Amino acid sequence: MPDSVMMNRSGMVSKIHTRIRTDTFKSSYDLVGKELGRGKFAVVKKCVEKSTGKEYAAKFLRKRRKGQDCRVDIINEIAVLESAEANPFVVSLHEVYETTSEIILVLECAAGGEIFNQCVADNDEAFTEKDVIRLARQILTGVAGLHRNNVVHLDLKPQNILLTSSRPLGDIRIVDFGLSRCVDSVEEVREILGTPEYVAPEVLNYEPISTATDMWSIGVLIYVMLTGASPFLGEEKQETFLNISQVNVDYSQDVFDGVSSLAVDFIKSLLLKNPRKRATAEECLKHPWLNGHSSPLPHLRNPLRSSLDEPETSPSESEPESPAPSPDLLIVASYKTCSGQSEMKSVRAAFAFDEPFSGRPEIKQELIC
Ligand code: ADP
Ligand code: MG
Repeated sequence: MPDSVMMNRSGMVSKIHTRIRTDTFKSSYDLVGKELGRGKFAVVKKCVEKSTGKEYAAKFLRKRRKGQDCRVDIINEIAVLESAEANPFVVSLHEVYETTSEIILVLECAAGGEIFNQCVADNDEAFTEKDVIRLARQILTGVAGLHRNNVVHLDLKPQNILLTSSRPLGDIRIVDFGLSRCVDSVEEVREILGTPEYVAPEVLNYEPISTATDMWSIGVLIYVMLTGASPFLGEEKQETFLNISQVNVDYSQDVFDGVSSLAVDFIKSLLLKNPRKRATAEECLKHPWLNGHSSPLPHLRNPLRSSLDEPETSPSESEPESPAPSPDLLIVASYKTCSGQSEMKSVRAAFAFDEPFSGRPEIKQELIC
């Protein structure tokens, strides 16, 4: 991030160079098709720029949230997107509009949707390990670029990693910098931010946030992409937080059936309680798992989940799929990302992905088990 940026105490950036347009969005864009996605304060819709015919994704962000003016949060999101302009794996920002109630970010459209969809897909549509290796390299290259700029994303999860196309499987684009922070300020950034299953132990303990905080989430993300299961999710939120703070992870053959031991080794280098011991994004990119070093594949109970080999076509013997209703894990805010979206199983319990919580130190007591 350039030296000239202005930052407040919590690592939010308050200076942007994008011109904010105040003319009517609809005079330059037509909304097309249905919604691309939504979060708690944002709706994302496909649109076409009238002058060029090009497709974009318009993210409509409400400025007032829970009675509070959140314009600074949106400006921070824009500033982070600007700082990542040259990053090929971060969604690019085309234009910004402002109305009395909303700010509209006109973003590159990632037409392949969320990697979440493949994480919860049936076996023949799920990622193979080979897919995950390619996508993991892209995610790590993108995140390494952010970290070089001292930007931490703080909400890396399958809903915020999109694809340029789903079939054939395209490239990744990292989106949603709503919780991102700049960590090069002299002040330590300590905040309770993130999405329960993906937050690192230091977040739960209200310890300083660093680039290593994202690396934990990448460990969870890769676990989910390879196994289709969420490593820390418990039946109740307290159990989830306890699992995280105890780093209670199931690396058994049952869960990692058909996945290489190098992949497990890679995840183990990230799901470490001490942030200083976690591999950095650059170190991860040098890991043998991502560099074509093969390791003997374990017995494949479920060949379609395998990958270093060509996927086979025999039917899977595995996993009855009957997710129970998802527990509500959120402290501050909770909702499902997309109505009608598939749910995903946890190692321990069925669940749906939740949206991030964000909060202040006062809620710490509620979060810590
Ligand atoms: P929120 O901050 O509310 O979570 P996101 O930026 O994550 O908002 O957007 C919500 C959803 O909208 C994403 O999970 C994704 O499904 C969809 N989406 C966001 N940006 C794009 C984009 N550039 N192209 C396509 N879909 C997008
Ligand atoms: Mg999001």
